[in-house]
Amino acid sequence: MALLPLKELYLECLHCTKCDLSKTKTNMVFGEGNLKAKVMFVGEGPGRDEDLQGRPFVGRAGQLLNKMLEEVGLKREEVYIANIVKCRPPNNRVPLQSEIDACLPYLRNQVAIIAPKIIVCLGATAAKAIIDKNFKITAMRGQWLERKGVKIIATYHPAAILRDPEKLEPAMEDFKKIKEELDKLS
Ligand code: SF4
Repeated sequence: MALLPLKELYLECLHCTKCDLSKTKTNMVFGEGNLKAKVMFVGEGPGRDEDLQGRPFVGRAGQLLNKMLEEVGLKREEVYIANIVKCRPPNNRVPLQSEIDACLPYLRNQVAIIAPKIIVCLGATAAKAIIDKNFKITAMRGQWLERKGVKIIATYHPAAILRDPEKLEPAMEDFKKIKEELDKLS
């Protein structure tokens, strides 16, 4: 797929029928945030609230993400937030590999436009799609790798932390690392 400017990319996603999630979604969730963000957070896919509002991370998991960002001195307005798939999988199931494959070029296009210095994979689905299909979130989170000058790290998805609050502490350690890395950039 040739790289598109942001507006054209948004319109293409809005009318996309490349996978069956287009049939069941309410709204496509493109992603949002600072177009000059140095850090981009990538989750799995829209949930119920996101599907209804057409915005990423606006439900309980989103509120937790906002608090985690604040805790390390980051504002949501400073970062960019997107997902691996832009349409909600029914009943919040994990997106199928075919759906991920269909949608990932859009995310890659977004990354090329925003050009973040750091990409944070939120949860195993994002880490498997972006870092390595065999990624194990519990064993491999919090470790930096670098690709084409972009630093990449994975941590727990806020929804996973809501299900298991013991994940909060290690996730906050990762968020502190991310902030330290960001501070080195500026
Ligand atoms: S999830 Fe992505 S590929 Fe599938 S219909 Fe939505 S925008 Fe298109």
